[in-house]
Amino acid sequence: MKKYKIAVIPGDGIGVEVMKEGVKVLETLSKLTGEVAFDFTWFDWGCEYYLENGKMMDDDGLEKLKNFDAILLGAVGFPGVPDHVSLRDLLLKIRQGFDQYINYRPVKLLSELDCPIKGKKPGDIDMIFIRENTEGEYAGIGGIEREGKEEEIALQTSVFTRKTTEKVMDYAFDLAKKRNKLNHLTSITKSNALNHSMVFWDKIFKEKKANYPEIKTAEYHVDAAAMYMIQRPESFDVVVASNLFGDILTDLGAALQGGLGFAAGANINPDGKYPSMFEPVHGSAPEIAGKGLANPIAMIWTIKIMLDFLGHESLADTVMKGIEGSLEMREKLTPDMGGKGSTSQVGEIICDIMSKKL
Ligand code: ATP
Ligand code: MG
Repeated sequence: MKKYKIAVIPGDGIGVEVMKEGVKVLETLSKLTGEVAFDFTWFDWGCEYYLENGKMMDDDGLEKLKNFDAILLGAVGFPGVPDHVSLRDLLLKIRQGFDQYINYRPVKLLSELDCPIKGKKPGDIDMIFIRENTEGEYAGIGGIEREGKEEEIALQTSVFTRKTTEKVMDYAFDLAKKRNKLNHLTSITKSNALNHSMVFWDKIFKEKKANYPEIKTAEYHVDAAAMYMIQRPESFDVVVASNLFGDILTDLGAALQGGLGFAAGANINPDGKYPSMFEPVHGSAPEIAGKGLANPIAMIWTIKIMLDFLGHESLADTVMKGIEGSLEMREKLTPDMGGKGSTSQVGEIICDIMSKKL
């Protein structure tokens, strides 16, 4: 039996509710198969912690997390705590502190009932976004000059290092090679307007492309890419994008697959020096929090990705079968999927289906 130490940060709002279901899925797998065991350590960090303690997480938070096999995160954000504080002092601190330079986000339609575009079948929307996750537009560099004066200016500097950009592109090319779809990689750019950073991005992309002659490529400006994702999503396979562009396009991707309730993600440190963090794309959704309305599928799909990364592909497949099976019982799903069910009922259904498959 393989044992894993998992750090659990449920965070705020619906993060807490969906995390319960994610953990339930892992416990079910452990009980049913005896193949894996999980030792969970819970951390109450997040916005409530901030309101009580003046900080989002402990000062030695990274030290506390560094020896875990993986970190699970629900969501952070709370009315009353500025979003840029909750993002910077917890999420970005972990992503950057643990050099999780890959943000891995699948965009895959499971049931045509969930797609906002008429006539799209599940196979038509199946792409993986590789978003640069530690620098770019999120580098946090800049400031306000001549504050309060008429000439006041805000500066926000993007940072693209050769080292990280190369590693991100290598990861994306390798995935396009490994993945059995189109062996195609799309690079998202905006080099007509961003004449330093994105021209540099394009240069590295061309250098890397030379090492992967078997991979077909496309380079689109982010605005055109948004349009093509709607017009012909089937032409996308693996997509590599900067931190900001990847963030925006993956919300568009989430919409294509049925909403944020389906959007799973992972912050990966591929070098294995630090733990990776598995986190759904959605936020804390305060307006539906505490009501049992949150769709736990994004979190459970995130758990599936974690199992893949830990090397348990067949358990990961079982989780996916649980998710897919649940979509056949529409009336029992959460309201965003057209049902009358609750967060915990959907978790139960998925665990039930998994136990029948094992
Ligand atoms: P945050 O500030 O933490 O990012 P937010 O208000 O931006 O929170 P998100 O969670 O990012 O909220 O999502 C935007 C909206 O999408 C939510 O308000 C909610 O209506 C919907 N949504 C997001 N996640 C889910 C989910 N898991 N289940 C159902 N609806 C969801
Ligand atoms: Mg949000």
